[in-house]
Amino acid sequence: MNKIDNHMPTAEIQALDAAHHMHPFTKGNEINAKGARVITSGTGVTLSDSEGNEYLDAMAGLWCVNIGYGRKELADVAARQMAQLPYYNTFFQTTHPPVVALATRLAQLAPGDLNHVFFAGSGSEANDTNIRMVRHYWASLGKPDKKVIISRKNAYHGSTVGSASLGGMTPMHAQGGLPIPDISHIDQPYWYGEGGGKSPEEFGLERARCLEAEILRLGEGKVAAFIAEPVQGAGAVIIPPQTYWPEIQRICDKYEILLIADEVICGFGRTGNWFGSQTFGIRPDIMTVAKGLSSGYIPIAATLVSDAVADVINGGDFNHGYTYSGHPVACAVALENLRILDEEGVVDHVAKVAGPYLAKKWKSLADHPLVGDARCIGLMGALELTSDKATRAGFADEGAAGQICRDHCFDGGLIMRATGDTMIISPPLIMQESDIDTLVARARSALDKTYADLKERAFFNRV
Ligand SMILES: *Cc1c(COP(=O)(O)O)cnc(C)c1O
Repeated sequence: MNKIDNHMPTAEIQALDAAHHMHPFTKGNEINAKGARVITSGTGVTLSDSEGNEYLDAMAGLWCVNIGYGRKELADVAARQMAQLPYYNTFFQTTHPPVVALATRLAQLAPGDLNHVFFAGSGSEANDTNIRMVRHYWASLGKPDKKVIISRKNAYHGSTVGSASLGGMTPMHAQGGLPIPDISHIDQPYWYGEGGGKSPEEFGLERARCLEAEILRLGEGKVAAFIAEPVQGAGAVIIPPQTYWPEIQRICDKYEILLIADEVICGFGRTGNWFGSQTFGIRPDIMTVAKGLSSGYIPIAATLVSDAVADVINGGDFNHGYTYSGHPVACAVALENLRILDEEGVVDHVAKVAGPYLAKKWKSLADHPLVGDARCIGLMGALELTSDKATRAGFADEGAAGQICRDHCFDGGLIMRATGDTMIISPPLIMQESDIDTLVARARSALDKTYADLKERAFFNRV
């Protein structure tokens, strides 16, 4: 199939895009003046644009296309399900086979007794469900004052009013009157950026104990839950020190605080286990999943709920649900995605082949003069750009170096994202060793070009 001829000329698409399409998380006027890159197709780990350029997609779309592009099985399953039953809800004393099959499969895969599933259309919606569910849980147990949810600065939990309030992104809170009441944010376990001279272990414990301090400040009787990503994704792949999660678990247990693991990125193999909670030894009461659940082929998300919490919620009416909760086509596609992950041993591939290989190659980038830290876990990683490796100093014009590097990546056929001056990757889980070689070689070349640019623009003299 021709990749270009079935589309309008690029300039026409860009003009219409500028005229009518509002982009998420984007300076509208800037993209409209420049013209958006038009992505037209994908196969495996590679994307193509309307000009015929190819890119190694080291972000798996937006942390989601875990089985890679172009898996026709998912399209076939969707077509079959659409023909048989394109839609029905489960509000009115009804159910349907795809939703039952997917809920059952998720209960099997999930650790512990997370045996119950409430579906949503996106990670944001699922986290909104969590806000309502944990507050309703405590109210049902006669503790209506236990409603504060503690989260973390620089966390990402979505973009709806509720989920953005859970998140700790200050630029998001600055718009639209967020956060909503009864959400509080503690410091994150970001050792490279905030750990100073402490060892990672010491710093991990210290940041975990911020949770205890916050519970004591608020009063145990006021706190419903703690929510966190096992590894912060959008926050810039912040991998907590080994001491962090065990201490968090101890504190949640001690004060009877529900633990919500937001596994929207970490779930389904990203860290080398089915769930990030397994990688870090966490026992969540509630888990949020989305993105990798369908490898991004169709929108679907879910809240996985423990026996104990489900018992209470099921005790009465839970006045909550979405038109597309448990959408049959989305459930069928997600099931097929999980079948592929399982039968093709994708999670094992991350744990035993791709993850260890990426770790070796990725960490070799730490010798670059621009790189202050090269970290990764499973198949997610970050490079901290710095103007001074010894002091970990950033740049006077924060975020500019990251953008320059990101643009060099694109020009060199690599999609890597910049969060401020941190470059991040989260490639498809099906990456082979040769793909990782290409990824790292292109990343190094982009770093070299960025370094030369920054020297020319006197970035290093300004700090
Ligand atoms: C992407 C993301 C979300 C939000 O999911 P959407 O489908 O974009 O609503 C929530 N939590 C985490 C950790 C995410 O990465």
